Amino acid sequence: MKAAVFYGKSDIRIEEVPVPEVSDDEVLVKTLRIGICPTDLRYYLGLRGESTYDNPKFTTGKDTFGLSGHEIVGEIVEVGRKVKSFNEGDLVTHETFTYCGECKYCRRGLVNLCEKKIDIARGYAEYVRAPQKFVHKFKKGTDVKFAAFAEPLSVVIHAVRKIPLENIAIVGAGPMGVLMAMYSDYKGKNVLLLETREDRRKFAREIGVKNVMDPINDAGLINSKISSEIFGVVSSVGGKNPIDYALSLSSSSAPVVIFGGTYPAEMLTYDPNRIHYTEKIITGSTDHTVDDMDESIMLIEERKLHLDRIVTGEYSLSQLKEAFDNTISGKEMKVQIKFK
Ligand SMILES: [Zn+2]
Ligand SMILES: [Zn+2]
Repeated sequence: MKAAVFYGKSDIRIEEVPVPEVSDDEVLVKTLRIGICPTDLRYYLGLRGESTYDNPKFTTGKDTFGLSGHEIVGEIVEVGRKVKSFNEGDLVTHETFTYCGECKYCRRGLVNLCEKKIDIARGYAEYVRAPQKFVHKFKKGTDVKFAAFAEPLSVVIHAVRKIPLENIAIVGAGPMGVLMAMYSDYKGKNVLLLETREDRRKFAREIGVKNVMDPINDAGLINSKISSEIFGVVSSVGGKNPIDYALSLSSSSAPVVIFGGTYPAEMLTYDPNRIHYTEKIITGSTDHTVDDMDESIMLIEERKLHLDRIVTGEYSLSQLKEAFDNTISGKEMKVQIKFK
């Protein structure tokens, strides 16, 4: 089969590699579509350490190809002998990480924080294998373009659940920010989407997001809206500036959710009295739980959100490097790789 193999910063090559062999407990999935996630771009840019095919330090073995690739949807083409709930032909996705189900976090349903998480994502390949426990099925006829949003939508659901308020401000209108705005709007929240880049504000408005504003030129309007209600804030992007901005916007007593990773690392400085006297809740959000994924799949099957509008480009696996480069340069917002 063909797979993208990562050799080092900005160096990926499409190579012929063996089709994975499934164990009794696993399914073999023929990849139909995969979305490019900002996390994958960090691997590609070498910002997640030297996780290459030859030195897969941050992944699980040589068969990971050194890239992530977890926004996957495909069709089951083979099932292991002990697999009961899946059949050939099922349209599925699988979790990015396995979890143990037994540690102190898993026992409380916080499987995203499992102490024994293992990254099994290797979706830039024509076939992937996954343990049945971590596979999710879509109902027949689900559009693969929507289905490839199962993982990003589930992590967005996880983040938005941390703000049990009517009002939410989202900092950053990248692909995750607009997805967060769409989902929050669907949940009936009053949403402000804040973005410094003109092209991204324009894109968000074009796909139907309301209340898209510029933190600089619309500062007065943003402040008047924020000060009239209690607002929780998510920083959908990492970095000192957006997170500082999110902290400054959030209301007393309200959560500030740090959603985007910061690579390379940066330090935040914050007067503790601004937390002490305001009771702001500073928290993070990473991955998703079982409930988040269940809700995501339901929303996808029922086509409750216009997820297809977020996709700006569709490329083939052989064009993966171009797809990564065009996403990094900002030419594309969200790319999906289509497999034959
Ligand atoms: Zn992702
Ligand atoms: Zn665990």
